[in-house]
Amino acid sequence: MLIDPCNRRLNYLRISVTDRCNLRCAYCIPLGEDRRLDHAEILRYEEILRLVRIGVGLGIEKVRITGGEPLVRRGLPALLAAIHRLPGIRDLSLTTNGLLLEEHLDALVAAGLRRVNVSLDTLKRERYRDLTGVDALGRVLAAVDAALAAGLQPVKINVVALRGVNEDELIDLARLSLARPLHVRFIEFMPIGASRLAGREPLLVPEIRRRLSPLGDLVPVPPGAMDGPAQRFRLPGAAGEIGFIPAISHHFCSRCNRLRLTAAGRLRPCLLSDREEDLKGPLRSGATDGELAAIFLAAARHKPSDHNLAAGEPAHVCCQMRSIGG
Ligand code: SAM
Repeated sequence: MLIDPCNRRLNYLRISVTDRCNLRCAYCIPLGEDRRLDHAEILRYEEILRLVRIGVGLGIEKVRITGGEPLVRRGLPALLAAIHRLPGIRDLSLTTNGLLLEEHLDALVAAGLRRVNVSLDTLKRERYRDLTGVDALGRVLAAVDAALAAGLQPVKINVVALRGVNEDELIDLARLSLARPLHVRFIEFMPIGASRLAGREPLLVPEIRRRLSPLGDLVPVPPGAMDGPAQRFRLPGAAGEIGFIPAISHHFCSRCNRLRLTAAGRLRPCLLSDREEDLKGPLRSGATDGELAAIFLAAARHKPSDHNLAAGEPAHVCCQMRSIGG
């Protein structure tokens, strides 16, 4: 079983299926050379599936597909369906920017997807275009509507809170949870890679909560069995929820149950530490399932107890978010 030296049981694998993205978010795209992996460097679906199967044998129960933008990779629903069919998988989810979600929705639902996270940092069309490089806010909002109509539950909206970018919209974004069962989650910006927005004063959860106070008292929602680190609340009378992910101000390392499989086929025990174990090399040079399982166990052994990152520290994680997947 994947149990680390701090006695944390690692049952959650997040998989970045590509480092390519159809957006150019200012906080995600690296400054300087923007090197993408060659196709041959990215794990093939059958390789990912074999690794997930090995992970399941070691106690992985929860899988999230992310990227880059996972929906730019062709054939993704088939991978989801194959993971969904693995005995032992209890939860399968997808993080997407939503641009291609509507057109793939039926296939994703047929593949077994029951919930989705859509990243959306602003409700202003021009700001969306400036932040992401693409004039696509309408498409994302339509995809959110379609995901709700298709019965996905929950549909979460991931908002990275960015000072000087969307701090004036936190209330409007939170209001998305009032009339419809959307779960709006405010995420603290993490210093990963060097981006155009790195280095600005962070907007942390205590301040985000203060800024939301005109909306009324936040009523705590009890955590569910498969919950991640979000602190969950509901606005009075709301159909949906508000969540906070205080990755920096109140980090949840002691409860972290995650491993990450990067697009390049490396196993990353901590989002905020560059230490990784290579799986792709051994996988492609004939390693047995047992040998690959031993690499999973090594990653668990090397999971840091804590990321030790204070608010406002400059980026010291070199790897780019889009090859790790967030
Ligand atoms: N393309 C997909 C999407 O946009 O959801 C999946 C990949 S994206 C890297 C996953 C999530 O990471 C998004 O919600 C994005 O906003 C978030 N993210 C990217 N860089 C971040 C950072 N430095 N700190 C916090 N969240 C970040």
